[in-house]
Amino acid sequence: MPKPAIVLLLFSLVIVLTVAIVATLPRAPLEAVVIVIDPGHGGHDPGAVVAGVQEKDVTLALALRVLRKAQDRADLRVILTRTTDLYVDLVDRVRIAEEAGAHLYLSIHANYYRDPTVCGIETWVDTGAEGESLRLAQMVQGAVTATTGAPDRGVHRQTLYLRHTSLPTALLEVGYLSCPAERTKLLNPAYQDKIAAGILTGILAFLQAP
Ligand SMILES: [Zn+2]
Repeated sequence: MPKPAIVLLLFSLVIVLTVAIVATLPRAPLEAVVIVIDPGHGGHDPGAVVAGVQEKDVTLALALRVLRKAQDRADLRVILTRTTDLYVDLVDRVRIAEEAGAHLYLSIHANYYRDPTVCGIETWVDTGAEGESLRLAQMVQGAVTATTGAPDRGVHRQTLYLRHTSLPTALLEVGYLSCPAERTKLLNPAYQDKIAAGILTGILAFLQAP
């Protein structure tokens, strides 16, 4: 075969192979961001109990709503630390997030105080939390108070089991079961939906910001 013919043959082969490889490549897959939502308490640990309302049931209902809301999104994968009335060890909860390669971990709780006039939403981070956890807490606190219209009691620090991970973590107290009006709202599906929407909005704001 003359030399130009060999060159032409090799060139054609490269073109054919390139077209074949490009055609078989998957279309740019969306890398779903994994987030872990923790319904506080569960099983033998009911959390706060006021007038027959158990914190563990409220937190699970809210987490399941967040899960359902995010189900249509290709860019987000929500994992719950429990989907039933089950107790999961606290350190195991953050391990679930680490093993899943989660971008963040948010624990949901409902509050209690002896003074029934104390109502509203607050978010906690561990005393040693870095800036990312604080930013997550602020985004979630801002979004959930916006969707619910509940009193904004701010972001605070205390020693939490969240210190067992370096992931961005926060603990959201969605309202006071000891505040009668808030307790009634926390059992209302429409109000639960507002909280879940706020949680998702806050998390997306956290993920989208630099
Ligand atoms: Zn709690």
